[in-house]
Order: sequence, then structure tokens, then C-alpha cells
Amino acid sequence: MSDSPIPMVDLKAQYAALRGELEPAMAQAMAATQYILGPNVQAFEREAAEYLGVRHALGCASGTDALHLALAGLGIGPGDEVITTPFTFIATAEAIRYVDATPVFVDVDPQTFNLDPVAVERAITERTRAIMPVHLFGQPADIDTLNRMACDRGLLVLEDCAQSFGATVDGRQTGSLGAAGAFSFFPSKNLGGFGDGGLVTTHDDAAAEQIRSLRNHGQTKRYHHPQIGYNSRLDELQAVVLRHKLPHIDQYNTERRRVADRYDARLAGLPLQTPLRRDGATHVFHQYTALSDHRDTIMQALKDESIASAIYYPVPLHRQPAFADAAVPASLPVAESLAERCFSLPVYPELTDAMVDRICGVIREAVGG
Ligand SMILES: *Cc1c(COP(=O)(O)O)cnc(C)c1O
Repeated sequence: MSDSPIPMVDLKAQYAALRGELEPAMAQAMAATQYILGPNVQAFEREAAEYLGVRHALGCASGTDALHLALAGLGIGPGDEVITTPFTFIATAEAIRYVDATPVFVDVDPQTFNLDPVAVERAITERTRAIMPVHLFGQPADIDTLNRMACDRGLLVLEDCAQSFGATVDGRQTGSLGAAGAFSFFPSKNLGGFGDGGLVTTHDDAAAEQIRSLRNHGQTKRYHHPQIGYNSRLDELQAVVLRHKLPHIDQYNTERRRVADRYDARLAGLPLQTPLRRDGATHVFHQYTALSDHRDTIMQALKDESIASAIYYPVPLHRQPAFADAAVPASLPVAESLAERCFSLPVYPELTDAMVDRICGVIREAVGG
């Protein structure tokens, strides 16, 4: 038992806990046959908007699409520059490309791994239209500073909330803090579906109308298309799953913080840097990501004990061939240093204290103490 494998994420326990209520609800939705933008999608949009404290929440097909639709809905397009982080999943910057805007990568804060507002400020030009922070690993970015800067310069802030469902800044939800927010319901995210799904949030009525149209072939009413749009809707069956998980999200995130607290305590004194938590913000630990010069040793020792670990992310976006044609900076030293030293440990609500202790024991054994 003590040496059974520990994965990065285990979705089985959550499914088992919800199965009794989920299966009848899904069967009901299947029998109702309103599969596209049906009653569960509409109800989930209302419930998510209420939870997040936003005027509008619009379901779509993925987190990547949510970013794309948000940029398009805010009118960002060719010639525009969008300042963002290189230390993220590629979708953040892919979406900027989808609207033919230019991603401008700037360096990140070495403690929070999030956009460094000083670097953002330096990168603003007359072509800058938006700032796109990512609340990486579930830690809210310094959104108040970015918002002030955006307000002074007439820029939009678009939050990538793919990893931050339920995270807050002074009690306000991520996704409610800028011009728009984009969430992902990829199965392993804090709020995960049984497939792909996404959500765009905004307080702006005009942007919401535009996004509502764009996600559904650019139509305003059925078969009337003032513009070219996309087919990007949240699936009705995913909405059933998400409606049943949403009431538990705070509990899930509390359990993730329990795991993180225990890692912090058990890893203290070892040659690694545990994740910082910003004052006034709640970190929801989509990932528990530490830094160490002994990363390879630690990951190998874990692997030998059938314990998963992972590197998010080994190659910063300004070093990806996909962005070679963007005017990428030669070097962003903090992002590069993080990519060389970061590693993430298993974290999910059902990870027990005993499992955390076992993981930390292996690390302690590997790197002394
Ligand atoms: C997961 C993720 C996305 C993309 O979400 P999908 O639903 O997989 O398309 C975008 N940004 C970040 C930071 C992510 O982690």
C-alpha cells in the first residue's frame, strides 16, 4: 500500500463521489435531447456568473477558445500588441495569434512566476492594446497594479483563468477583475469536465453580445449572420457535470491548499524553494510548483518510487519555434531560469496527508536533511 503509485492527478475519486447524482442527471439531459446551448448550459452560465461575481459568463468549447473569443470580443486584432507572459501553456499566446495580433513576451516575477508589472510597463508601445496576465498554477497575478497601469494607458486587461477557478484577490474572484476572463474546464483543471469546455466572463454588455454571436457562427438570430464567427459552444453534457461540481469547488480548493500547506511544512529546510503565496490573495494550487537546482535528482528519486512529478513548463514561449516569427526578446532571464529549475508535485483534493508525507520523505532522502 505504502508504495502504490501516486499520479499527478487522480480523477477517479471525484467521479466516484459524484457518480450517484451525476449519472441520473446526465441520463435526463440525454433524454431531453436539447444538446446544443440547452437548459444545463444556460443554468451553468447563470450559476458560474453568480459564483464569479460577473455580469456575463458564456460557455464555449475550450479554454483556448475562451481566450480567442475574449480577444475577438474585445475587438483586439491585426496590428495590436498584447503583452503577456512567456511562462505559461502555449494556448495563452496561441489565442493572440488567432486574432492576428502580436504577443509581446515580458519577464515574470521570480517568486510568484506571474507577469512582472515593471516589465509590462516597459514594454508598452503605441500599438499595445491589452495586457494578458495568467494566474499561473492558481496564484492570482498582481492584477491591481496591472489594472491601474491599464487604466492610465487606456489598455484592456484579459485574465487567463484556466488554472485559477475559485482563486480570489481581496475576496474578488479571478475572472471578474479585468475587461474579460477566460476559464478552461479541461478535465485536470480545478473545475474539470469530462472533456473539453471553456467559459468567457465579462462585465461588459457589448463584449458579451459579441462573444455570444462569435461562438455561434456570428449569428444574431437564427440564420442571420452579420459577421463570420465560429462553432464554439459548451456541450450540454459537460454543463451537467460542471453544474454538479461547481457547488464543491471551494471545498476542492481548500483540500488543495491543505496539501500545499503540508508540502510547505514537510519540505522546509531542504534545498528547494516552495511556492510563495501573495498577501491578500488565495492561491488555489492548480499545481504545487517548487524550484530546485537538484530537480533531476528529486524527479528521478520520485520516479523510482512510482511517484509522478512534472515540469510545467520546460520551454518558455519566447523560445518556442512556433513564435519564431514574433518579435521575441533574445532573453527573458527569470522565465528561463524558472524553466530550468521548476518541478511540480502531485496535488489534488483527494491526495491524503500520508501520501504527501511519503512524497516528502522521498525528496528528503534524495537531497539530504
Ligand atoms: C489549460 C490552459 C489553457 C487552455 O485550456 P484548454 O481548455 O485546454 O483549451 C490556457 N491557458 C492556460 C494557462 C492553461 O493552463
